[in-house]
Amino acid sequence: MAKFDGQIAIAHLQEKWEGKPCPMCGVGNWNVNNSTFQLTEFNQGNMIIGGPVVPVIPVVCNNCGNTILVNAITAGVIKPESEGVK
Ligand SMILES: [Zn+2]
Repeated sequence: MAKFDGQIAIAHLQEKWEGKPCPMCGVGNWNVNNSTFQLTEFNQGNMIIGGPVVPVIPVVCNNCGNTILVNAITAGVIKPESEGVK
C-alpha cells in the first residue's frame, strides 16, 4: 500500500500538462488516483519476488475512461531509493 497526497501528483500534472484535455475524447477532466500501483517485469507469467518494479499513478479521464500511467518517482510522490524500485 503506498498512499500519498494526491495534491502532489495533481500539482505536478498541472505544471507539466498545462491543463491539456484527454487526447482521445478531447474533454479531459482528469481523476488522479491517490494510490501507487506497480508494473512488474514480464517473466513468462511467473511472479518474481523482489524483481524490478516501476511505480505508477493511474490518471483516468472522467469522460471516456482513458487511463494514463504516470511514473510515481517522476511525479515526486515517492522516493527513488525505496527498495527494489527502478
Ligand atoms: Zn477521455
